[in-house]
Amino acid sequence: MNPHPRYAWLDGLVEWDNAVCHVSSMAFKYGISVFEGLRAYADPASRDLILWQPQQHLSRLLASQRFLSFVDPIVPETALGAIEELLIANDTCANLHLTVTAFAGNHGQPGHAARPCLAITALERPDYQSDGLDVQVSSWRAPADTAFPQRIKANGKYLTARLASVQSSSDGYDAALLLNDAGKVAEGTSMCFFMVREGTVVTPDRQSGILESITRQTLLSILRADEIPYEERPVERSELPLCSEAFFCGTGWEIAPIRSIDRHKLPGFAAQPITSHLLRRFRDLISGVDDQHADWRYRISLRR
Ligand code: PMP
Repeated sequence: MNPHPRYAWLDGLVEWDNAVCHVSSMAFKYGISVFEGLRAYADPASRDLILWQPQQHLSRLLASQRFLSFVDPIVPETALGAIEELLIANDTCANLHLTVTAFAGNHGQPGHAARPCLAITALERPDYQSDGLDVQVSSWRAPADTAFPQRIKANGKYLTARLASVQSSSDGYDAALLLNDAGKVAEGTSMCFFMVREGTVVTPDRQSGILESITRQTLLSILRADEIPYEERPVERSELPLCSEAFFCGTGWEIAPIRSIDRHKLPGFAAQPITSHLLRRFRDLISGVDDQHADWRYRISLRR
């Protein structure tokens, strides 16, 4: 595995070391920047990369830029063209994780016009391996929606992720789960939370201070299709030790089973019937074994 590929994207194809942002930019000084994490999966037989759900991610990137009143926001077609050019130039037929960022590259004060630059990196990301996550309910909370909009994927959101992750790892856990300002369960540091209680899948609703996650929507559509009962609703902290199974989900984490929460072992972890069913269904959609939702898979050919 290479530490990094030859090229990155910064408003054009650039050598990796030249993908830099000015220290006087609004992005550097004030964190005025939004981004998306995407996955591209390798299909070695065809030497294609399958970019997973690009329209969903790039539409959210546009929505995040509009939310922050960026001037001439980067539209999905532009970002998709840049991703394709970058992946072809790097010619890496492996599973990749992409970060696609629209950052305010110009100098200015927080209220000034913000002009987005488009930055993209694509790094190899091997399959996620875990024998189950030990999760800590963090003492850090997801900020109130009136203070920090949780619906957009702004870089500044990850300051809380930093604090909660450092805390959970120094306390000997694998990951953190955040409550919202009302004390209900919100989400992980970069992933959404699902649990199973008495056969029903439960996930915090969209008013619980979560990112409106693409993977979460995808899993809900699988649950609907498979007629597995589910609820989107506020989740109380005291429900956590009572669930049988739980997992995190997100583009980066895919579906990551949870073994324990605050050291309470989840009784359904060993068998995890619902988590493993969803994992199988999700993987089949990504690989195209399940050929529904063809528009979720965008093929980029690396053949020459
Ligand atoms: N919550 C947060 C805070 C995240 O950063 C992410 C990753 N984008 C998610 C949830 C999962 O979102 P998605 O399924 O759209 O990747």
